[in-house]
Amino acid sequence: MPEIPIVENILDANDQLAARIRIEFDSAGLLALNLMASPGGGKTSVILKTIEALKDDVRIGVIDGDVVPLDLEKIAEMGIPVSLINTGGNCHLDANMVYSALPSLDLNALDLLIIENVGNLICPAAFSLGVHYDVVIASVPEGDDKPYKYPAMFKGADVLLLNKMDLEDYMGFRVDYFRHGVEVLNPGLTFFPISCRTGDGFDAWLDWLRTAIKAYSNGQETTP
Ligand code: MG
Ligand code: ZN
Repeated sequence: MPEIPIVENILDANDQLAARIRIEFDSAGLLALNLMASPGGGKTSVILKTIEALKDDVRIGVIDGDVVPLDLEKIAEMGIPVSLINTGGNCHLDANMVYSALPSLDLNALDLLIIENVGNLICPAAFSLGVHYDVVIASVPEGDDKPYKYPAMFKGADVLLLNKMDLEDYMGFRVDYFRHGVEVLNPGLTFFPISCRTGDGFDAWLDWLRTAIKAYSNGQETTP
């Protein structure tokens, strides 16, 4: 009898639940994003700045698995419905955690749902959450060798934000070297160099996001 690693069974069950979650998102007509990054890579900054820019005409909700109470308070203070996932110290979100959080949000009242994953560039890549796009944020201070060290994360990404571009010169960050590493793993990946601090590059990300929100707003779209 062939040996079946337990991890395969776990991931299979996760994928089945992720497919059910996707049906909920699609029938609600919202765009769902899974935001992944290292701790300090700028997930919360990107979320706050995105909310700031879009909140007047886009109904946004946030599911947070990266539990820093201060971050969550800031988001809630902007009038954004927030659902907190208690990961119990887990290093990633899985479909079961997200599925359990769904009843706490009125999905039909949202255009955009942002899921902030646990700060970690390794295992979150292995667990589908049923979202439309897996968005990875890398940042300049982490170094230009990140794609070479964490290939699974960059291979599975649908969109890549490179944050803190204002520190590029200061850190001696080689954008070409970074992009080459990404391109080998994930050719043609949608890529936005940004700076949350200066706002540089942020409009391109927002334009992409507005287009994606529109595409999923009728509840007719399926997997990209
Ligand atoms: Mg955060
Ligand atoms: Zn993990």
